Amino acid sequence: KTNRFAVHGNGTNPLVNRWNGRPYSKRYLEILQKRKTLPVWHQKEEFLQALKANQTLILVGETGSGKTTQIPQFVLEAVELEIPDKRRKFMVACTQPRRVAAMSVSRRVAEEMDVNMGEEVGYSIRFEDCSSSRTVLKYLTDGMLLREAMADPLLERYKVIILDEAHERTLATDVLFGLLKEVLKNRPDLKLVVMSATLEAEKFQGYFYGAPLMKVPGRLHPVEIFYTEEPERDYLEAAIRTIMQVHMCEPPGDILVFLTGEEEIEDACKKISKQVANAGDVYGPVKVVPLYSTLPPAMQQKIFDPAPPPVMVGGPPGRKIVVSTNVAETSLTIDGIVYVIDPGFSKQKVYNPRIRVESLLVSPISKASAHQRSGRAGRTQPGKCFRLYTEKSFNNDLQPQTYPEILRSNLANTVLTLKKLGIDDLVHFDFMDPPAPETLMRALEVLNYLGALDDEGNLTKLGEIMSEFPLDPQMAKMLVVSPEFNCSNEILSISAMLSSKCHYIVLSILCLESNRLSKWKYNNGLRMLLLSLRMHACLPVPNCFLRPREAQKAADQAKANFAHIDGDHLTLLNVYHAYKENNEDPSWCYENFINPRAMKAADNVREQLVRIMVRYNLKLCSTDYNSRDYYINIRKAMLAGYFMQVAHLERTGHYLTVKDKQVVHLHPSNCLNRKPEWVIYNEFVLTSRNFIRTVTDVHGEWILDIAPLYFDLENFPQCEAKRVLEKLYKKREREREESKN
Ligand code: ADP
Ligand code: MG
Repeated sequence: KTNRFAVHGNGTNPLVNRWNGRPYSKRYLEILQKRKTLPVWHQKEEFLQALKANQTLILVGETGSGKTTQIPQFVLEAVELEIPDKRRKFMVACTQPRRVAAMSVSRRVAEEMDVNMGEEVGYSIRFEDCSSSRTVLKYLTDGMLLREAMADPLLERYKVIILDEAHERTLATDVLFGLLKEVLKNRPDLKLVVMSATLEAEKFQGYFYGAPLMKVPGRLHPVEIFYTEEPERDYLEAAIRTIMQVHMCEPPGDILVFLTGEEEIEDACKKISKQVANAGDVYGPVKVVPLYSTLPPAMQQKIFDPAPPPVMVGGPPGRKIVVSTNVAETSLTIDGIVYVIDPGFSKQKVYNPRIRVESLLVSPISKASAHQRSGRAGRTQPGKCFRLYTEKSFNNDLQPQTYPEILRSNLANTVLTLKKLGIDDLVHFDFMDPPAPETLMRALEVLNYLGALDDEGNLTKLGEIMSEFPLDPQMAKMLVVSPEFNCSNEILSISAMLSSKCHYIVLSILCLESNRLSKWKYNNGLRMLLLSLRMHACLPVPNCFLRPREAQKAADQAKANFAHIDGDHLTLLNVYHAYKENNEDPSWCYENFINPRAMKAADNVREQLVRIMVRYNLKLCSTDYNSRDYYINIRKAMLAGYFMQVAHLERTGHYLTVKDKQVVHLHPSNCLNRKPEWVIYNEFVLTSRNFIRTVTDVHGEWILDIAPLYFDLENFPQCEAKRVLEKLYKKREREREESKN
């Protein structure tokens, strides 16, 4: 009989895996040898001592030094996870800002510990939990840990919490900082390790009451940096050109290229493969691997495959080319990279509280990011980094650090979470960088209009249920009230289709002009720096529609078959229904240019949302399909969630968003056969023109019934929409008078 929780070396057999009682595999011992060469292993004892002596610890180390994979295992070895006699077991949590990292790293660590994935080691990301009652080490996104805190405010299932990639300063990590500071006071037995790749450590130290700081020296080789002489007009084209130059002229070594999103990366991969094929056999074989967050897990692992061997003995050696988003900047380390190509952009969130628009915008990176990226070239030997911008641009245009996400985000969701966590005084919450008061005000206002907070700012019953959904408050509201409109089944399908972010769409625009930039100046003095290079504005979209370049016409025709003339939301519903009617058949999907992966993801999301609905006794119901009200009820329920995202058609022929008065256009992808007077929209897309995407026709009368508070004319700016609403109110009064007589 083996004692599962005995401490290693404490009289247990060192050749038997303490977690499952099985003898270690050969592979385990092989990997162990390699692990022991990682820099963190040299400081293992020092780390364990510091962990024992302190409640909070800060650990800074170069990317690739073994923080994410090794430190949680050290912790497991050292802490007692079981309380004797109490039959209770603790876990160790390690947060990751990115889902790809959580999935990839947990898989690796399960292998390193010689256990099955999802058993002793697991991961948890939104809508996907791969862990079990046996799990002792869980990698999870920071957002998930925050959600867990809502149900378990003292995070009592954990003994040690590791906040990894703290330098990324994501919204959820920043909130966790403040939260954990409180939790630690109430749980003296809990320990916190904050891990970071870059040296903002002093700031962390100051924030965590002078917690001890441990530095793991990196073992970086020198990296030579090259800049372009002139600014590049098209970074994508420049990146591919540079890849080819490296491949044809530089000695062996793998290449890492940083691009901004799925579509761009897939496009680049195709082009690179084509150009390499055209170059002929004089040059070595190439393996091009993409890496982005929505890539299926099996594909993600390919970045760790070795470069291809020479085509024939003695021929030119092969090369691996990884085309990745920012995830390869610090979250995942790929060994063997010798050349880094850095166009200087990444997709970043920006929020303008004045017009309440949050967008993902391809924006210049910071100096700190550029430094991290170049460092990826020197992991195993001296390397080279090609920056596709001028040295002057680097010095003058790039800001030193990326602003924390909390200063660039819509906080409605965060505020709802904090309220649910019982934090009422947001102004005095211990944020490392407090968000702008205007952004907080905006968030409170939105939640108040939605009925999630009362006029005193207290969480209502409705707000409490809304906070249980891992969705934006608008969508959560739409779901919670959908039974009242007798259409929760349909609203569930639409929400799932909108939430399964399987793809990113990239719209290109040339040179954002400076006058447009001024719109994006922040009230707190932040400034978006935009180089005069090709810019892309991108937003996550529920892209279940495939539109391959070589078959665009056929794809558009296929899409038209699903179109619903009253709106894109209803079109998505049609697609979902057709998918189910055709038994989720992938070949049916391809024939109809539907992405089966997106549909599967949506179905999974739907299932999870149903579970929450059931848990809170929200009825699952539908209006009779043959009833006139079938679609009307669905549209009304959507309006009940999205009444703050309404646009009105002006006599001039363009739309104005209600209250914020932004000129917007229906996105060309819409399915409507007309321009309705009032529409609700799902997204505001910022490009050279402002688009609203995923729109549905709603009626002015419904607005009066469903959102009288928001559309109260007393505090409504003068505009055409107001005059139309005034008429509607008057008409209604007249009717009331008449019915009285
Ligand atoms: P850090 O968190 O300090 O950046 P990591 O713990 O992520 O470092 O990485 C340590 C080492 O483990 C690196 O050399 C990395 O290449 C390797 N590694 C991580 N995941 C995998 C994997 N899935 N396959 C092979 N090697 C991996
Ligand atoms: Mg790491």
